[in-house]
Amino acid sequence: MTNDALQKIVIVGGGTSGWMTAAALAKIVGTQHCAIELVESDQIGTVGVGEATLPHLRAFIQRLGIDESTFMRTTNATYKTGIEFSNWGDKGEAYIHPFGDYGEPIGGIDFHHYWLRLRELGDATPICDYSLPVKASQASKFDYPSADTSTLASTFGYAYHLDASAFAKYLRTYCEKLGVVRTEGKVEHVATCEHSGNITSVTLENGHTIKGDLFIDCSGFRGLLIEQTLKSGYQDWSHWLPCDRAVAIPCKSNGDITPYTRAIAHDAGWRWRIPLQHRTGNGVIYCSKYMQADEAEQLLRDNLEGEPLGDANHIQFTTGRRNQFWSKNCIAIGLSAGFLEPLESTSIHLIQLAIMKLVEFFPYKNINNVLRDEYNRSMGLEFETLRDFLVLHYTATRREDSPFWQYCKHMVKPAALTHKMALFEQTGRVSPYTEGLFLKPSWIAVYLGQGMLPKSYDTRVEQLDLEKLANHFIGIKQAVAQTVQSMPDHTDSIAKYCMAKEGEYTAPPATSNLYGQTS
Ligand SMILES: Cc1cc2nc3c(=O)[nH]c(=O)nc-3n(C[C@H](O)[C@H](O)[C@H](O)COP(=O)(O)OP(=O)(O)OC[C@H]3O[C@@H](n4cnc5c(N)ncnc54)[C@H](O)[C@@H]3O)c2cc1C
Repeated sequence: MTNDALQKIVIVGGGTSGWMTAAALAKIVGTQHCAIELVESDQIGTVGVGEATLPHLRAFIQRLGIDESTFMRTTNATYKTGIEFSNWGDKGEAYIHPFGDYGEPIGGIDFHHYWLRLRELGDATPICDYSLPVKASQASKFDYPSADTSTLASTFGYAYHLDASAFAKYLRTYCEKLGVVRTEGKVEHVATCEHSGNITSVTLENGHTIKGDLFIDCSGFRGLLIEQTLKSGYQDWSHWLPCDRAVAIPCKSNGDITPYTRAIAHDAGWRWRIPLQHRTGNGVIYCSKYMQADEAEQLLRDNLEGEPLGDANHIQFTTGRRNQFWSKNCIAIGLSAGFLEPLESTSIHLIQLAIMKLVEFFPYKNINNVLRDEYNRSMGLEFETLRDFLVLHYTATRREDSPFWQYCKHMVKPAALTHKMALFEQTGRVSPYTEGLFLKPSWIAVYLGQGMLPKSYDTRVEQLDLEKLANHFIGIKQAVAQTVQSMPDHTDSIAKYCMAKEGEYTAPPATSNLYGQTS
């Protein structure tokens, strides 16, 4: 880059990360003064998974000015109010991690402390009975949250299950309308400046060279620019998150379109179920040390609820992150930046976060090294806090029924997580990270959901009159039950707001791809 204004952004990769990045930059930075060109290779294809999202995606869609109903119809999306985890704390147990609270704090003290007190006195009501999103999810009900924040009906958020190929395709049309140039071809060579080390151009298989000032690496696990060219380095976290393989097969829906993702633990990992309008996404995540690819595929096939709609897509990965997400004039977004595994549907969120930070720190002229360092620091923290939250799912378990679970239960945890878990176990207190995605309610959901009951609670709750407290809890439980009863079925809400029209869905079924190890 020179001292002149930035003139050209080159995005390598046209998966979810490439098109989300192109869409946001085209909308927010604009293509009038700074051209945006995206290169993608049909020969290589995309990873072909990534269909469960977090509520933050709604803000992204809104920021792009996209109408939600159109977006949902086009991507065959369904509503998502949480994730159901089965067999994690112990075999046969299940809980929902909702996008919402388990009750309001009382007098500044978290709700679960009062619940723990009542429990100690013999009240066996599960805490989920006080959560609207959990009870609504279990009843397969969905309605838009109320805008009136004084009501129970406002106490939850929602996200989407969506068809990732249709999403990328939709964004491509959006981007091209805003002036983004799409070039098809496989990048074979990446040139750098011998003085600055900056990337100067990429050259395609057919000899065509594309020059640029800023390069965004959305090339997936391979990290074509950030790793293969700039050698950022990779922090391997597989000792904490040991699953390193996945196999996915979409299938015909059995009609049970739940407003939640399912994550069902098995002997060497877990399995997902993501219900879309027109089909169901399924996959098995596993640790190759404890399960073979054919066993994993068989496990998946044995549990398909309908006819398979594509070949088995086998994927390898190494959980971890790049040492630097932004190096020289290159920013890695998406799988090229790192991968934590899809247990809490966080990857698309990390893409969104990276894009928003890039927009905030956008180098309209020169790259400011301090801003680049801040970008790397804050993205690093996001990855680390998320990692700890995911590790919690594996290690807060009573399962020891297979070598995989024995390893997980007894692994040496990240230090910050060890402290947080001890704090909760001994005192019921949740120490949230000051930065990072998952807030107190999420930690409480997983701690309690996986059977980590604190030995004590905040004794200040004893100041509240017991009868009043018990009545207050009965009132919440009844209000939750009544609100759930008055809500429409999830499928009725889809039919009312966002039902895909016949023939509208045109994305091809998932095919196998060429993916290999990340580092
Ligand atoms: C098993 C699994 C399940 C997942 N589930 C979820 C989920 O439920 N929710 C969620 O949020 N995320 C999920 N993810 C993550 C999600 O799939 C990715 O974050 C998302 O798809 C973005 O991928 P990407 O665009 O970075 O990479 P890819 O989809 O791999 O796209 C890479 C792009 O780069 C291009 N490319 C590569 N090399 C070259 C080259 N040499 N020349 C030209 N172009 C090139 C390819 O053609 C492609 O267009 C999951 C991931 C895995 C592995």
